[in-house]
Amino acid sequence: MKVTQHIEDSKGETLFSFEIIPPQKGKSIQELYDNIDPLMEFKPPFIDVTTSREEFIYVDKGNGLLEKKLTRMRPGTLGICASIKHKYNVDTVPHVLCGGFTKEETEYLLVDCHYLGIDNVMALRGDAMKDEQSFVPKKGGNDFAVDLVKQINQLNCGKYLHDVMDVDNKANFCIGVAGYPEKHLESPSLISDLKRLKEKVDAGADYVVTQMFFDNAKYFEFVAKAREMGITVPIIPGIKPIAVQRHLQVLPQIFRIDLPEDLIHAVDQCKNNADIRQVGIEWAIQQSLELKAAGVPVLHYYSMGKSENIRQIASKVF
Ligand code: FAD
Repeated sequence: MKVTQHIEDSKGETLFSFEIIPPQKGKSIQELYDNIDPLMEFKPPFIDVTTSREEFIYVDKGNGLLEKKLTRMRPGTLGICASIKHKYNVDTVPHVLCGGFTKEETEYLLVDCHYLGIDNVMALRGDAMKDEQSFVPKKGGNDFAVDLVKQINQLNCGKYLHDVMDVDNKANFCIGVAGYPEKHLESPSLISDLKRLKEKVDAGADYVVTQMFFDNAKYFEFVAKAREMGITVPIIPGIKPIAVQRHLQVLPQIFRIDLPEDLIHAVDQCKNNADIRQVGIEWAIQQSLELKAAGVPVLHYYSMGKSENIRQIASKVF
């Protein structure tokens, strides 16, 4: 079922959803299940599964030389989506990237999704690869998320990249896109980023999931500005609990987001990792309760494959 249909059916009740990352290549899927199991009591209508960009690795050739190879260290997004859907009878949302894929490869992926009964996809550009200065699309691929949304929407209309006669089974994907309450790191301003978001919605996106934020005021302002600009689709807040001291440095660095002074202060006061995790949990509970009281359609948690802190948060909120 479509994410938008789940929201409509909830009749104003805030839903719980979460996002997982595929395991490292060679690792078992069991750990993922062990982390999903405790979250099922909160009845997520859908679970997102991320897709990782490919990256360069250096393989020892055994003769003193290293060979540079391009690989994806966390493959299996679609397989995981299918297996979760099958095991838990819950909708799954594969993240589909522009980066690293030609339009033709994207079409194959979407056809697979359609045959697997996957009704939702999250359309994203992807970040630059680790050793790239800026994002470079694959030759023959989509440049921006808006182009990917257009491709998916074309498929929903029964239009493939090449002429296909007598289409009698059109895709009908519900399309999610990313939004940035503190603007995307490459964007010159929040307003210009919101105009880009509007382009994605006008191209067929059905809902937005936000980048993580730690100050709800940023989300409320973002939604108000989006509505002023005529973006009417659901805007789902993305929440990530702080879990380690290092988050204070890496989250602002990677995502160009601000952390509130009170949160920084509380983490700085902690004596050990367990205390920091607790601060992160308490902060996310307060954020979630306020967002729920404001009537957000879904609270979407970035679990990064670990569920214990998300379970503790959800048990206080749902
Ligand atoms: P876009 O919407 O294409 O925007 C990218 C930048 O280009 C923005 O600055 C925008 O303002 C600008 N822009 C947009 N259109 C144009 C245009 N026509 N001309 C000029 N500039 C333009 N990354 C992954 O690799 N895997 C994942 O699974 C993943 N999941 C995510 C889930 C969520 C909810 C979020 C918020 C992010 C996720 N990301 C993921 C990260 C995402 O790929 C990056 O933030 C990426 O840098 C931008 O993706 P986007 O889809 O927002 O891009």
